[in-house]
Amino acid sequence: MCTMTRTLIRNARLFDGTGSDPYRADVLIEDGLFRAVGPDLPADGARVVDAAGRFVMPGMIDCHVHATLFGEEGLRTYARMGVTTVKDLGGAFDDAVGLRRRQREGGVPGARVLVVGAFVEGEPPSWGALFPGMEVHRSEEEIDRTIARNLDAGVDGIKLYAALPPPLVRRALARVAGAVPVTGHLTATTATEAVAAGIGGLEHLQLTLYRDLVPPEHALGPGDTMGNPAYWGKVRRGWEAIDPASSSPLIAAMHAAGTVMVPTLVLGARTDMGFSDEEDAAFTAAQRARMGARPAGPLPAPALLERSAANMLGVVRAMHAAGVSVLPGTDCGAVGVPPGFGYHLELALMARAMPARDVLLAATGRAAEWLRRDDIGVIAPGRRADCVLLDGDPLADIANARRIAAVYMDGEAVPAAG
Ligand SMILES: [Zn+2]
Repeated sequence: MCTMTRTLIRNARLFDGTGSDPYRADVLIEDGLFRAVGPDLPADGARVVDAAGRFVMPGMIDCHVHATLFGEEGLRTYARMGVTTVKDLGGAFDDAVGLRRRQREGGVPGARVLVVGAFVEGEPPSWGALFPGMEVHRSEEEIDRTIARNLDAGVDGIKLYAALPPPLVRRALARVAGAVPVTGHLTATTATEAVAAGIGGLEHLQLTLYRDLVPPEHALGPGDTMGNPAYWGKVRRGWEAIDPASSSPLIAAMHAAGTVMVPTLVLGARTDMGFSDEEDAAFTAAQRARMGARPAGPLPAPALLERSAANMLGVVRAMHAAGVSVLPGTDCGAVGVPPGFGYHLELALMARAMPARDVLLAATGRAAEWLRRDDIGVIAPGRRADCVLLDGDPLADIANARRIAAVYMDGEAVPAAG
């Protein structure tokens, strides 16, 4: 008996993730892969899905999550929301690598997980027990051991963390030697130093670019680390004073080096925007338990938060205008962002700083490029058949990326609930 499954999506308006304008086409899915894309493909016994009046785009990619922290339930929510791949940017090493292995063995449904393993952290670590996976490094030898272990485990990237000083950032980059993409959520090393050292990506615009851009009167002191609840209010006050134009030397360096930015604008969304009941209901049980355990610091007044968020968007706008690749990530799992729904909020925030079509390209083809995955992110023959059918045109309004009629992952329809 033939077990091959064939599906023909007919008459779709197709945004294929390559940067081409949308065009009308049929999409043939066979045995988990896109087999053909073009006009009037023969059905030949395939199951036909009429997509007339609908929009089809590649499955989306979240470049920054903490899947071991939000749990498997969140991966299913992600897939239902059209996000078919997530990159886990840190958790306990065995948990992260183990989750990917169990998923590859078929035991974990939902969005596909890529992993970096643990946080490559310096000393003192930015967090205590609240965030597992802080591996402290004090010497080049310790860096060498971690990088060798991670590469042996076949990680999909390396994540350098906030307390790591410039010499150890440089050492890590030298040991990775381009084998996998390296990204950083950095503080002890500035973004400017990391870009000069050849880092591939920067996470969290708000935090990693802070020291590069903030006026001296808002400089952080030794006690201002993430574990201190007062830190977050200080950073937001600092951003109110940042002139987005001051980012142009850093942006020029990023553009020249090809460094990508994953700004995670949704980081402050819970306080700045609030969540709808539907969004709030999407938090996993694991997330609710962690949110209760994390002390919240006092935040500045809403008007100040709004001005600081506007300056962050100003920097994103300048990056995009300069040709720097700005990619969607949410930090879901580490902060109060609900799986899937938080991703669509991030797309909406990015769309305030760049055209919707560029946001969608970042969410698909560009994200796949950054992750060095030529099997996802684009609807083209030979790629994994991850795609989303939408009831509205997301290029006209990014909110339409949430009007999901169906999601396919590896050619199979993702269950609508459960
Ligand atoms: Zn994170």
